[in-house]
Amino acid sequence: MKKTNIAIASLVKPHVQSLRAYEAVEIPCRVKLDANESPYSAYSIQHTAFSVRKNFQTLNRYPDPEAKALRKLLANEFKVKPENILHGNGSDELIYYLITTFGGPVLYPVPTFSMYGIISQALGEKKIEIRLDKKFDLDVEKILEAIKKYRPKLIFLSSPNNPTGNSFSSEKILKVIDAVSSRCTQYDVRSLVVVDEAYQAFSSKKSFLPLLKKYKNLVILKTLSKIGLAGLRVGFMTADSEIIKEVNKVRLPFNVNSLSQAVAVEALKDRRLLQSCIKSIVSERKRLLNEMKKVGNIKPYPSDANFILFKVVNSDKIHKGLLKKGVLVRNMKGVIDGCLRVTVGTPEENTIFLKTLKQLL
Ligand SMILES: *Cc1c(COP(=O)(O)O)cnc(C)c1O
Repeated sequence: MKKTNIAIASLVKPHVQSLRAYEAVEIPCRVKLDANESPYSAYSIQHTAFSVRKNFQTLNRYPDPEAKALRKLLANEFKVKPENILHGNGSDELIYYLITTFGGPVLYPVPTFSMYGIISQALGEKKIEIRLDKKFDLDVEKILEAIKKYRPKLIFLSSPNNPTGNSFSSEKILKVIDAVSSRCTQYDVRSLVVVDEAYQAFSSKKSFLPLLKKYKNLVILKTLSKIGLAGLRVGFMTADSEIIKEVNKVRLPFNVNSLSQAVAVEALKDRRLLQSCIKSIVSERKRLLNEMKKVGNIKPYPSDANFILFKVVNSDKIHKGLLKKGVLVRNMKGVIDGCLRVTVGTPEENTIFLKTLKQLL
């Protein structure tokens, strides 16, 4: 029998029609420095083995829908209550939930993490994109203008910012939070400001966590992905309990699986190990930046994260040339033209990257 024919695309919602699937192509390579992952897997293997053994007998049951053990541990660490914490299948999922719960317009600076825009579009919400200034910092004047004009419900600020690597100035972030808080009498706009601290562990700047006490419209996003556990898919948000309560309504009941919950708990109990990996990445980032500064025809940008953005002549050619030698970095074409982004790897990986880059240039 012949299969019936139907133009599926014509059934799709208009804003999804114009969306393109997120390209996460797996390119085989020797040195993988394209996705801001941690290069260290030893401790994740250790914790996973332990948790798998411990949980092996309960896989016939659904995971704890409330991730109580994980949230309690995080609450202790952040000096908040468990009701101030919500768990997600990666922080991506929490971005999805935040936009589902509060809707748009959604305002964010560009260039930044692509998911704010992709998820807004998937959910049919209006996007307000404000260009960063020349130093990749927030253009507060333009943001405040846009706040007045568009009255956004949500403002996403990734600090340190992906893919530029810098932290935004704390005073500028505060100005934005203040402008849309109940304290502000200048314009009558109330929005939530989501400070995405995916890379905060690598930064010398302070977390915005303590400010949760002061601002009810502040949400902090964190994730285990960049500090060594990207495969687990565990992220969390910290905010006022009223915010958590609302977002929790749209959360799928079993969004973080039991093994991920268990491994996350084990890993977080072993802070020293996590910290030692972070320390080595920060010191390698320093070396990488210094070495890159000595290479002609490239301009590396200082970074507070676990990657370095750099401008390079013939960026497409260099990107391909590196890959030919087995070194995969991210081509930022279309986001910041002429730029590549390299994740800080192990000392050996970084040396291979530097050597290959120097050869190509
Ligand atoms: C990687 C990244 C995330 C997503 O993290 P997951 O927890 O893996 O979903 C969120 N925000 C920024 C800025 C990122 O770079």
